[in-house]
Amino acid sequence: VDPEVKALRELYAEATKLYHHLLVNTASGEKALTYLTSRGLDEKTIDAFMLGYAPEGNILYDYFQTQKVDYQLLRKSELFVEWSDGSLHDRFTNRVLFTIRDSTGHPIAFSGRKLTQNDDEPKYINSPESLLFNKSAELFNLDLAKDTIKKQKHVILFEGFMDVIAAFQAGIQNGVASMGTSLTTEQVQRLSRMSDGISISYDSDMAGQKATKRALDLITQQGRLSAQIIHIPDNQDPDEYLRSNDATAFNQVLVHNVEDPVTFNLRYLQIDRNLNNQTEMFAYISDALTVIATVKEPVIREQFLRQLANEFDLSYDALQDQIRPLLLQKQ
Ligand code: ATP
Ligand code: MN
Ligand code: MN
Ligand code: MN
Repeated sequence: VDPEVKALRELYAEATKLYHHLLVNTASGEKALTYLTSRGLDEKTIDAFMLGYAPEGNILYDYFQTQKVDYQLLRKSELFVEWSDGSLHDRFTNRVLFTIRDSTGHPIAFSGRKLTQNDDEPKYINSPESLLFNKSAELFNLDLAKDTIKKQKHVILFEGFMDVIAAFQAGIQNGVASMGTSLTTEQVQRLSRMSDGISISYDSDMAGQKATKRALDLITQQGRLSAQIIHIPDNQDPDEYLRSNDATAFNQVLVHNVEDPVTFNLRYLQIDRNLNNQTEMFAYISDALTVIATVKEPVIREQFLRQLANEFDLSYDALQDQIRPLLLQKQ
């Protein structure tokens, strides 16, 4: 390994240890620990995920000063923000820290969540990219999840840290998260090397549905993972659902509240459309046929066509006439 990478890894290992210690053993971390506990996390989970707390002030900088760590190394770590006079200041203050680890388990970045609801600051702050942290390649929790993913040949893709962690605590160990940014080709490639199937389990709010659409298109385009979409009930995210239901119920959702990509795409096309308006209804039918035309198996295609015919009281023959040119284009 490159000596600089090695040095940065050591720095991150130290920082992770310090932040974790501050969370679990000190008075300054008490509020943060109560926050995490009130969100349902137990001690074992807090340890397994190396969660931490960054207090107000310059604790990390001061700590590395006592160890005489080289200034250039500290700069490159991205653990600090650099002021115009060149001085370094802790990037994370007064935040709960989620440790982002690479696929071999080395801490490489942090995401800090604020403890209280105040709208002037962002809810999460992430480390910028560094020599260790390539945002578009990493997936949160891949190190802990990879063995289970390989064994089950299945991965669950979540939106956020808390979703992965809550699922893990409930015994679902093949979950990873794209950490709020759009899924990338690189991440899909990585997952397809260890898995056959993927369940997208994003939030059921509009942002989550849009992100699902993007992720699904990317996965379909890449063509190596068989995708399904999990629909979390009651407009919740997986973490919220797990807070008000038990692991068994969540496992039921994972098995039963599942949509195939075509069904998801058809439902997605209906969002924000007034299907009682004839013009919008015809536009929907036309878009829906484009989606159904992507189905390769004639039997399954026929089933979606019949469903569409029933839903809008249309003749099956007319739908077939209309989809035919779309099918020919594909050949
Ligand atoms: P929580 O349950 O702690 O409120 P969440 O995971 O439900 O968080 P969402 O708002 O659903 O948060 O966002 C999903 C993910 O997007 C987060 O886990 C985080 O990785 C990322 N994210 C959310 N808000 C921000 C932000 N302001 N800046 C950067 N990343 C963010
Ligand atoms: Mn969300
Ligand atoms: Mn969420
Ligand atoms: Mn949440």
